[in-house]
Amino acid sequence: MRSINILGSTGSIGTQALQIAALHPDRFQINALTAHRQADALFAQVRAFRPGMAGLTGMKAGDVEIPEDLRFCDWRFGQDALLCAAGDVPCDDVLISVVGMVGLPAVIAARKAGRRVLLANKEALVAGGQIVMAACGDGPDGPTLIPVDSEHSAIYQCLRAANGNPYDKILLTASGGAFRDYTLEQLQNATLAQALTHPNWSMGAKITVDSASMFNKALEVIEARWLFDAAPHQIQVVIHPQSIVHSMVQFRDGAVLAQLGAPDMRVPIAYAMAYPERVETAAPRVDFAALGKCTFSDVDPVRFPAIGMAYDALRAGGAACCVLNAANEEANARFRSGGLRFTQIGTVVAETLQRIGCMPAHTIEEVYAADAAARDAARRVMEKLEQE
Ligand code: MG
Repeated sequence: MRSINILGSTGSIGTQALQIAALHPDRFQINALTAHRQADALFAQVRAFRPGMAGLTGMKAGDVEIPEDLRFCDWRFGQDALLCAAGDVPCDDVLISVVGMVGLPAVIAARKAGRRVLLANKEALVAGGQIVMAACGDGPDGPTLIPVDSEHSAIYQCLRAANGNPYDKILLTASGGAFRDYTLEQLQNATLAQALTHPNWSMGAKITVDSASMFNKALEVIEARWLFDAAPHQIQVVIHPQSIVHSMVQFRDGAVLAQLGAPDMRVPIAYAMAYPERVETAAPRVDFAALGKCTFSDVDPVRFPAIGMAYDALRAGGAACCVLNAANEEANARFRSGGLRFTQIGTVVAETLQRIGCMPAHTIEEVYAADAAARDAARRVMEKLEQE
């Protein structure tokens, strides 16, 4: 039996993690659940899984009335809820599936308390990779950080099969998102509704837009750099529209190991939750004969400049990746609220990276300072774009 605290339990990853827990009540016990503001969804989860603690990180005490039958559990609010679930409530594993920079202090709090971190939050690694990896070395009981992002889970699984042999290269696959085959002109006029129709994966709105702009893959290049101690030239993005090969690792003898499966997040989530065992997930099986073929191609750097920006930011070092993430978050949100054209997301990130010089990222405080400076600069870039 492993006990798990889930941060971000009403999101896409959180709800699927609870599906896995419900499939295996003899194996997983839920000790804490937090949501941002979806109180009713959280109430239903607390009713079903009966954790000792629950919290709403985007609300204050008194914002919402806790139903009488749910007062058995310790209710917390705001940042206190996040840190309490990450570090204070005893458990084996903390699944961090919140969106945004709040993932970083959550990882640190979980590690300080000795918990294993199942990481689905990208921002912690992208903005504070150095800090996260310093807190997550292998412990006496094995790994203390297991990635949940499907590509990184795939790479992680391939490396487990490598028997300690160093790799030459990571081949990070990308579906290409909703706009894979759009021309530059079509991209300029792309709408939010079009961006939200992801061909393979069902995810939240922010990440689906990131997938269309390929900033999601840019963030994943940076994640891979930190998780697997890779030099930028050791990471290559490969377009693979079918999303069956979740990523690959190439070794010095030329051999390539890949992890395959249906595009279903329950598989990497369950892998992290049950590690090192594998458990039933109810995910569909790949019918290779029906699939027929898998195809691969390079990223077009003109239509999708995001990938190049990730490599530039990695090479620049310091807080450049944090700046890229913050500028993208601002631009992504502005696009979703109708204030920015799709291709301007990339313009905002590129200009923000240019405006913010080199800033350090050795401490959480430094990362937050760079994040704030980048958001400020990004907003000024967007105001300038609006006037043009
Ligand atoms: Mg991914």
